[in-house]
Amino acid sequence: MTAWTLAQRTAGMNPSALWEILKLGERPGVISLAGGLPSPHTFPIDAFSEAAEHVLRSEGHLALQYAGTDGHSGLREAVARSLPWKVDPAQVLITTGSQQALDLVAKVFVDPGSRILVEAPTYLGALHAFAPMQPRIDAVASDDDGLVVEDFVHRAGNGAERARFLYVLPNFQNPTGRTLAESRRDALVQAAAAHNIPLIEDNPYGDLWFDQPPPAPLTARNPEGCIYLGTFSKVLAPGLRLGYLVAPKAIYPKLMQAKQAADLHTSSFNQHLVAQVLQGGFLQQHIPTIRALYKRQCHAMLDALQAQMQGLGVTWTRPAGGMFLWLRLPEGMDATALLHDCVQRNVAFTPGSAFYAHDGDPRTLRLSYVTATEAQIRAAIAVIADAVRTQLTA
Ligand code: PMP
Repeated sequence: MTAWTLAQRTAGMNPSALWEILKLGERPGVISLAGGLPSPHTFPIDAFSEAAEHVLRSEGHLALQYAGTDGHSGLREAVARSLPWKVDPAQVLITTGSQQALDLVAKVFVDPGSRILVEAPTYLGALHAFAPMQPRIDAVASDDDGLVVEDFVHRAGNGAERARFLYVLPNFQNPTGRTLAESRRDALVQAAAAHNIPLIEDNPYGDLWFDQPPPAPLTARNPEGCIYLGTFSKVLAPGLRLGYLVAPKAIYPKLMQAKQAADLHTSSFNQHLVAQVLQGGFLQQHIPTIRALYKRQCHAMLDALQAQMQGLGVTWTRPAGGMFLWLRLPEGMDATALLHDCVQRNVAFTPGSAFYAHDGDPRTLRLSYVTATEAQIRAAIAVIADAVRTQLTA
């Protein structure tokens, strides 16, 4: 180790012990339900191949050049048109994945020691994006209907202690698969406005519903009180690193300046490529194929859980869309210990404790149903159930 002096913010940048175990889950032969990856079978490779040829031949000199920080105008217009409230394309900032939007939000809103609010549990990558800005993170309770509005109000704070924002995932949440109930959405928007706390609404999974679309976004209910984050990662391909945010006009320039300093702009080639792919309403035919696949796989997992976990005292969520479901083990059990046993038997998942800002519930775990096949899902759930049974009798 060198004697270099590192910034204090690096104290929060540590690989967790969990990653070491999860790495074992990447060995060949392991069925992993651990990752957050979309199914590669959904990537529209032919559409990209055709669009790439077209972009290079017809606008290659632009697509390969430096470009404006705000993003490709055609793509920003397409994003604005796709959203269910009135959005001016001038409010759309194209980002390098929505992960970058999380980083920009943290840079613009957080001072060291200031308070921010997240759900318990929440997206691990958001906790990682916020941590370097050194906030004090307070977690708002959630239940089967999503975030508990009364607990948000309880934690909102006043004056210097007022939370700088609430980060919330209303649809098919990562990690729980839960959706914020319609009955809570207006109440949350009104409470946030009353306390003057911006809502950072992250919606990567909203289009991946199984039977019916989720209720209208929070931002649609009060666009001036929210910053909305979207991404092409789950409906096209995550390797593009293409996301976007929609912000009120008053705050947009700060977010854009933060982005300019970070990377000047998101890949112009990828923006041209996606703008081309989207022409002619491509997503309207493509997204239903993803929904159908994920719905089938989710049902395969729910059926396997129903069949294998009988009488074990395990409970789980029943997602109406998205990629994940969330299990709770019986009293006294620990999901990280269970993962150790399962990895020996070539099955991996993510212990839920990773997704909490503080005091993770050791009995919880997250399962992805989108990358394994239905047969692998059934085999993996049988192994997990068997490991639970063994621990219960140990
Ligand atoms: N938010 C949530 C809730 C996510 O699950 C993810 C990806 N797993 C992201 C943001 C980041 O996605 P991307 O940067 O690929 O747009």
